[in-house]
Amino acid sequence: MTHTTVVMLTQQNPAGELVDASTPLINIEDQGLTRGDGVFETMLAANRKVRKFEAHLSRLTGSARILDLPLPQEEKLRSAVQLAVDSALAGPQTVLGEEHTVKIIISRGTPEEGAHTWVTVAPSSPTIVRQRQEGVRAMLLPRGHDPADDSAYPWLLAGAKTLSYAVNMSVLRYVGKHGADDAIWVTDDRRILEGATSSVIVAKRSGDQRVLYTPEPAHGILPGTTQGAIFKGARQAGWELGYGPLYPQDLLEADAVWLASSVRLLAPVTHLNGTPLALDSALTDELMGYLAG
Ligand code: PLP
Repeated sequence: MTHTTVVMLTQQNPAGELVDASTPLINIEDQGLTRGDGVFETMLAANRKVRKFEAHLSRLTGSARILDLPLPQEEKLRSAVQLAVDSALAGPQTVLGEEHTVKIIISRGTPEEGAHTWVTVAPSSPTIVRQRQEGVRAMLLPRGHDPADDSAYPWLLAGAKTLSYAVNMSVLRYVGKHGADDAIWVTDDRRILEGATSSVIVAKRSGDQRVLYTPEPAHGILPGTTQGAIFKGARQAGWELGYGPLYPQDLLEADAVWLASSVRLLAPVTHLNGTPLALDSALTDELMGYLAG
């Protein structure tokens, strides 16, 4: 029994139709499946309303453009997403209300049928909700190369959220075998990049000055919509903003470090390679407040 609700956008129903997720829906030769050739967005719905939909749509548009994939008409996509969200099974209740995880996927499809789009909605996972409260133990791991170097070569798809997430999933299995919950990738010279599925945010206070840092999003990492929303709110609240470069020592000396992403929101990093980091739940609440707007 699947807990996932699926809406497919088809030629007959471009605004999407509910389909039975327990039946075969994807062609065995779909290139999203066989090659990871496609793009996606993962979003959070609270009380059956998708949060920061505009920011996700804008990143999806960019990803689709980078991969030469067609984007459904905006109004049709919005209706398909809302249909899926409205039809989903009950989600867990949190301080935000009822929570669901919403995905939009655009796959290359088959050469015969071409690209296609679908939306899935499932109740948010209890692990993710727990990690918001308990935080995560993170491990620094090399990315293997500096993604900023990819930016000059469009075929390397820098900044696109592609379906090719096998490396992101593999690093999570790796850290799991080594007693941690999450990874923070670094370049060979130990510059901080991003989490496996999240952006890194660092808070530093000295006297009256309060600064939030994140690695420069234009440098080949995925520009996070959560980090973007938090920085927007923080700027209005008087924080200074810094865009790296950050090194492990900056995290060890910070007042707080988080991994930020749309569904988990803000997970405080409790340990870096086993060393405890400073925690500040009042700061976490403050940054969460910027996400509420
Ligand atoms: N970086 C990577 C590699 C990600 O996969 C994600 C989200 O999945 C993020 C950052 C955070 O992006 P967002 O805040 O838009 O969810």
